[in-house]
Amino acid sequence: MIKFLDLQKINLQYQQEIETKLIDVFRSGWYLMGNELANFETNLSNYLRVQHSIGVANGLDALRLILRAYIELEIMNVGDEIIVPSNTYIASILAISDNGLIPVLVEPEINTYNIDISKIEEKITPKTKGILIVHLQGRTIFSNELKAISQKYNLKIIEDNAQAIGAEWNGLKTGNLGDAAGFSFYPGKNLGALGDAGAVTTNDNELAKTIRALANYGSNKKYINVYKGLNSRLDELQAAVLDIKLKYIDHENEIRRQIAKQFITKIDNPEIVLPEYPEDEKEHVWHVFVIRTKKRDQLQAYLTENDIQTLIHYPIPPHKQEAYKEWNDMSFPISEKIHEEVLSLPLSPIMTEVEIEKIISVINAFK
Ligand SMILES: *Cc1c(COP(=O)(O)O)cnc(C)c1O
Repeated sequence: MIKFLDLQKINLQYQQEIETKLIDVFRSGWYLMGNELANFETNLSNYLRVQHSIGVANGLDALRLILRAYIELEIMNVGDEIIVPSNTYIASILAISDNGLIPVLVEPEINTYNIDISKIEEKITPKTKGILIVHLQGRTIFSNELKAISQKYNLKIIEDNAQAIGAEWNGLKTGNLGDAAGFSFYPGKNLGALGDAGAVTTNDNELAKTIRALANYGSNKKYINVYKGLNSRLDELQAAVLDIKLKYIDHENEIRRQIAKQFITKIDNPEIVLPEYPEDEKEHVWHVFVIRTKKRDQLQAYLTENDIQTLIHYPIPPHKQEAYKEWNDMSFPISEKIHEEVLSLPLSPIMTEVEIEKIISVINAFK
């Protein structure tokens, strides 16, 4: 059986290095806010060429904390609007509504699955304070046009970079394109921890300081609380593992690109729409490889019969979720089409050539 993602095999690539480190941290007696976190934050900042990295508990917290900090800094107010793609993982939207901000959904572009930048300006009102872009599936979304819109209306650009660590736009890494970015190191992400983990990155000193305090009970100094903060920390064990795996992320992303390239050149089936391979291949780190077909459920069943595990990212669009009942009657036809037709194929850095060839031939034989 070809698993969608073999996490065990991915992590066992670094077994010796990780196990040695885990034992060191265990024996050190220091488990939170120590050297492992400091090292990982420094190395992540250097990797992204960004001023500040702040380790936090998970990706959702990273995004929540960014918006919360803008509220504390009075750059945003409760009731303000944040533009966000209608086709994303629910966490991007939860981070907005959790802060009492209003998510304003904008349709994606069908070929990239990412927010359609040409549809943003018509959704801007005097209440709009930010645009939360999502580099969905590992594909960068950014342009000079987006930058110009943000400058014209004085909007913050927040990147949801849960799926695209290592991707680039014009030589800059994602997480260093907007005003602040949230990362997730959920085990299945391209850079995955052994549990929950996340980070915020920014070049804004004031914002970084506020987020550090907010993530630590609203405190910069022990027992002195300036905000009604929360507890969102990246622990030493996770930071240590992430610091090891960060060294290999470019290599792993390169393997992902090679596999994506093989799928795109060799899968040839009129029923199936393949993803676009970007002209600048650095713009994509292939967190997931998503194909589209009118016969999605049939294809998924057929692949299961042939021992190929697939997933759907995602089966229900955010505006159709019960959690957002107030949006259930709204219409986002492109998002709805995507959610009905997409299927994610196995793609990961430890797949064998035999597995890749099998996926290609089985799909090509689908009628
Ligand atoms: C995974 C993910 C998140 C949330 O990250 P967690 O670490 O699971 O909280 C947010 N946004 C996107 C697009 C994601 O894929």
